[in-house]
Amino acid sequence: MTTFQSPRPNLRMLPVEEAQERVLAEVAELGTEEVPLLETHGRVLREDVLAPFDTPAADNTAMDGYAVRADDVADAPVELRVIEDLPAGKVATRRVEPGTAIRIMTGALMPEGADCVANVEITDAGAEIVKVLEPVKRGANVRSRAEDMAAGDVVLTAGIPIRAGEIGVLAGVQKSVVRVARMPTVAILSTGDEIVEIDRPRVPGKVVNSNAYSLSSLVREAGGIPRMLGIVADTRDATVAAIESALDCDFIVSSGGVSVGAYDFVKEALDLLGAETKFWQVAMKPGKPVVLSKLRGRVYFGLPGNPVSCMVSFLLFVAPSLRKAMAQTRNILPPVVKTRLAAAMRSKGDRRTYHRVRVVAESGLLVAHPRQAQGSGVSTSMVEANGLAILEAGVTSVDAGTLIDTVLFGPV
Ligand code: AMP
Ligand code: MG
Repeated sequence: MTTFQSPRPNLRMLPVEEAQERVLAEVAELGTEEVPLLETHGRVLREDVLAPFDTPAADNTAMDGYAVRADDVADAPVELRVIEDLPAGKVATRRVEPGTAIRIMTGALMPEGADCVANVEITDAGAEIVKVLEPVKRGANVRSRAEDMAAGDVVLTAGIPIRAGEIGVLAGVQKSVVRVARMPTVAILSTGDEIVEIDRPRVPGKVVNSNAYSLSSLVREAGGIPRMLGIVADTRDATVAAIESALDCDFIVSSGGVSVGAYDFVKEALDLLGAETKFWQVAMKPGKPVVLSKLRGRVYFGLPGNPVSCMVSFLLFVAPSLRKAMAQTRNILPPVVKTRLAAAMRSKGDRRTYHRVRVVAESGLLVAHPRQAQGSGVSTSMVEANGLAILEAGVTSVDAGTLIDTVLFGPV
């Protein structure tokens, strides 16, 4: 007859930071691929990008107004003869000689002879003759050649995530195809005899498989491709077979079956498959049972079954691994910021606790609003949460108004 498992004495409960280090040490960089520019949003850049030419290509005006010689307007007000009209995209046919001006529109190239632009607001906007009312300094209102990008400059470095700003620069240097990290594939397994799919009848004792769906969403958020491999029965054979079927993915993530219950088969199945299990407990709440294992070059995460434990341990261990696999250079671990607590929080104090909070900007400060119920099974504690406020082991209560370290996992 099966009974509870005895603890493995050689594998101790790790502090979170140490567990994160050990996890990242197991993650190798994935390969790269070339994709069209419009498909690069959210991908990690995997090449240094050089500017092939100067941007702007030549000095041009930053304002609508008149291209003039600073010397001519030093004793403003003065009148100058307007000798040409220059819209953006056109090149002047004449040179600004002493006593003359060229009417010029934002973006147009500076005509020869002119060394500054009198913006229209400091003129009478004259058509044939313009009156410039104030002096203008040499170089004023002129965007100089290469002030944005000089030919040969590295304008983007490998390892940064591509968003709007980066896409703009890539487009600006006419890069229509970009080398990015391959997106890691992540197998998602839900262990548990009690788990039923979302479209099946809920008979007594059964629990709906929510983990696979939240995990799939977390994988996407972290830049990976989720592969839903379904529910795994709580038997040794089923667990072994399910893990084997997941081996064509880069990462394998399972939920449940990693505690010391009589029907928790994940660790045993991993052993049978010859995996190298690195740790199986982390000193945190929610989510003490977290298995890290290495199996035929794949990184295996056995996450706890409770929905909140499952998501929190994903955010702390799996998401950083996906970012490292894509060779992201910064922000591998989620940032920790100080937030001011909007309400008091309590904890048993036996382990470090991650309280789900909604961090908002209030009068310029980050304020953390704790979710009401904080149990590991209270999935609604993750609704609208974007932070995990940290109560260290030994701390049993924190007052409202306290500044507290908070892991940020979503936009404020
Ligand atoms: P376990 O870690 O296998 O002991 O699971 C702990 C608890 O987590 C179970 O009693 C279930 O209530 C819950 N649970 C496990 N797997 C899932 C899942 N896929 N979706 C939602 N809840 C789950
Ligand atoms: Mg289970």
